[in-house]
Parts: sequence; C-alpha cells; structure tokens
Amino acid sequence: MAVSLRTKLASSYILVVLICVILISLLANLFLEKQFRNYVTKNQERRNQQVVSSISQQIGAQGEWHTQDIAGLGMNALEQGLILKVKDNSGRTIWDARTHNSGMCQQMISHMAENMLSRYPNWKGGYMETQYPVIHGFQKVGIVEIGYYGPFYFDDVDLAFINTLNRILLGVMALALFAAFGGAAVMAKRLSAPIGRVIETAQMIAKGSYATKSREKSSIRELNQLTGAINDLATTLDKQEQLRKQLTADVAHELRTPLATLQSHIEAILDGVWKADPERLQVCHNEVTRLNRMVADLGKLAKYESENLVLNLTEFDLSVLIQELALNFENEFRRKGSTLNFYGEPVMIFADRDMLTQIMINLISNGLKFTPAGGKVEISASKLKDGIEISVGDNGPGIDSDDQPFIFERFYRADKSRSRLTGGSGIGLTIVKALVETHHGVIKVNSTKGTGTEFIIFLPQAKESPV
Ligand code: ADP
Repeated sequence: MAVSLRTKLASSYILVVLICVILISLLANLFLEKQFRNYVTKNQERRNQQVVSSISQQIGAQGEWHTQDIAGLGMNALEQGLILKVKDNSGRTIWDARTHNSGMCQQMISHMAENMLSRYPNWKGGYMETQYPVIHGFQKVGIVEIGYYGPFYFDDVDLAFINTLNRILLGVMALALFAAFGGAAVMAKRLSAPIGRVIETAQMIAKGSYATKSREKSSIRELNQLTGAINDLATTLDKQEQLRKQLTADVAHELRTPLATLQSHIEAILDGVWKADPERLQVCHNEVTRLNRMVADLGKLAKYESENLVLNLTEFDLSVLIQELALNFENEFRRKGSTLNFYGEPVMIFADRDMLTQIMINLISNGLKFTPAGGKVEISASKLKDGIEISVGDNGPGIDSDDQPFIFERFYRADKSRSRLTGGSGIGLTIVKALVETHHGVIKVNSTKGTGTEFIIFLPQAKESPV
C-alpha cells in the first residue's frame, strides 16, 4: 500500500532517532555506569583512608588517645555512612559507633540498602567491615574497623546524578522525536508541493495541452531533473503532433498537383478536346509514375523510420558494393554525358547491405539528377579509427545555404521548379538520413552554390562482428 511522503519520511526519521537514542542510552548505562561504579568504589576507599589518617592525627605526642576528638570524627563518619570502631593495640575499644548510637547505625545501613535496591531491584549487597591499622610515629598503635554497605553503594547525591542522567536522556529522546516529526513535516512539504505541481503539469500534458510548461525551480537536483524531463516530454510530444499534422498536410499537397494534372488531361480527352495521342498519354503516364514513386518512397520511409526495424547485419566489402552500383548506373551516366568515379580501398563493413545499397542509390541518383550534362560524381569510402566514412560529391549546382538545414526533411525540395523536372518527391534524402541513423551514424552536407555538393556519411563500427 502506498503511503504519503510525509508518513514515509516521518517514520524513517523517527526510526533513526529511536535507534540513536536507544543506542546512546544503552551505551551510557553500560559504560558510564561501569565507570561510575569504579569511581564510587575508589571514592569509598579514599574516604576510609581519610578517616583512618584523621584518627591517627588525633593521637597525642605520647601516644595517648584523644577520645573526645575521635568521637567527633566517628560521628562525622557515621553521617557519611561509615560505622567506625577504634581499638588500641591491646584490643581496648576507644570508640564504637554502635555503642554510641546503635539505632542510627542500623538506619544508615538500611538506607544504603534501600538506595541500592531502588536502582538495582536484585541487588545483593550487605554490611562489610574492613580493618585499617592506626599508625603513629611509624608504629601501629591500634586499628580502625570501618563498617559500610558493600561492595559499594550509591548515596543520595550519586543516585540523583544517575537519575538526572537518565532524565536528560529521556528529554533528549523527546526533543529528538519532536524534531524528527517537525523535520519530516517540513521536508515532506518541501518535496511534495513541487512534485504535486509537476504532477499537475504532467496531467495537463497527458490531456494534450503541450504548451503547458512547469516553471518549478527547486534546490533539489532530482526535482529540477524531473521538471526538465517533463518539459522535454511536452516539447517532444508537441513536435510530433506538429509533424503528424504537417505530414498529412504535405501528403495532401504533394498528391494534389499530379492528380489535378491527371484529372484535367483525362477530362480533356474524354470531352474530345484533346486526342488520346501518345504525347498526352505520356504526360499522364509521367504523373502516374511520379505518384507511384512517391507512394513507394513513403512506404520505404515509414518502414525505415519505424522503431522496431530489424537490421540484417552482415559483414561485406563496401567498395565492392559501390563498384556494383556504379556499373548499374553506368548507362544512365553515359546517356547524360556525365561521369561517375569511385576511389577507395577495400573497406569491410558490418551493416545492413540492403540499407547501404539504398543509401548509395539515393545519393548517386541525386548527383546524376542535379548535375547538368557533362558533370562529375565522385564517391570515396575510407576506414577511420572508429568507423567508416563515405563521401558522395558532385560538381553540380550546389544547395543554397538557407536550404541546407532542411534538405533531409520529407518533401523538401530546394528548387521546386527544377525538381518537378527531375521528378523528385523530396523523400530521397529523408530515407538516407533515416537509414544512416538506424546504423547510429551521421550524415552531413557540404555545398557551395554554383560549385557542387558533397554528402559525407560517418558510420561507427558495430561492436560485434559475425566473424
Ligand atoms: P528529391 O526527390 O527532390 O531528390 P531529396 O530528398 O533526395 O529529394 O533531395 C531534397 C533536395 O535536396 C532536392 O530537391 C534538391 O533540391 C537538394 N539536393 C539533393 N541532392 C542534391 C545534389 N546532389 N545537388 C544539388 N541539390 C541537391
């Protein structure tokens, strides 16, 4: 089921936040607490040492115990959770917290147990005692027994520290979740609003409104690419639509003239205005031939321009093909008093032979058609580093530079009056271009009015070869 961008973004942001916070909490509780326990344990030991050293300092110069001061220290220690018992070397008790205030001792111990159980419900701690010697003037004068809750315990301040840490983590989690929601909402809006507008444009284009263009400008590269692609699509569709309309109009226009000529001639013959003599019939025949050629050319063009045209690729020598064609054209050239020359070494090519034949026929016949009697058509073929170049040049009338960009368009004839004489339909070069492009090649024209015309074809060498 498809969900909205907002939901998708929000859920992924929240997932990331949850993973981060949970990981941080786990790490904090595992490592930080371990460190903290070490710290607390060390602290405990340090405090014990301090108490012992304070007691040592209360011993008089002659080794007498200042019971009063020691009692003060003992009380102080008791408040910090340490239960002291001080004895001299003979085992006599100097001060004992339990005899002093047994109730308070009990209370301290149970308070510590409570603290630990509140943090760790399964805590197994208990009352522990450690003995430290009391040293005075490098001599042991007695011992201090320090009782405490062990192996370590958290006092109220420690507990407050841990709880604050956890509360901060919870706060961070809440803030991060809030930020994730907010961020997702903002991002979703920034993404979905322009996408929505591009969708609207696409829908308009789908309805045929090709002039609709999206003016969406975004800081997100992919969105700009999407907008660009939609606009290009609209332009392409628009162009195709124009071409389709143009083609229908052109075909109608091209058919009109020969059909009108035919009609008027036949009507004149039927009405008895003209006799059906060979001269009149020849005119009709010429028009029918022209129509036939045009329909045949259109058929070929449709075939070559169709997208799923299958190429019958074979490897052959292009020079041999051109020489064969030159032989076929020999008579026509001779009749006109023109010459056809071919220059070239053997050039092996991997291509569709029929298509290359068609390309060469169209270019050679154009050369013959447009070059006046006595003209020259020269063909060359050569192998380049990454493909094959074919050139067909003539010393004919040339093509006006204004016309050059259009000569490959269907029905385009640079010189309408002349082409009526040559019988051209204006499709020959369109077919050549379609065939060259089918082979992923390019065709160019170099022509100077009055000097001649040269068509240059470049065909890239096909990747795979049958041999
Ligand atoms: P056509 O059937 O008229 O020959 P093409 O598509 O073959 O149609 O050529 C289009 C136009 O290009 C021609 O009508 C002509 O004006 C010009 N053209 C093509 N080849 C030549 C050439 N070798 N010399 C001069 N003009 C040419």
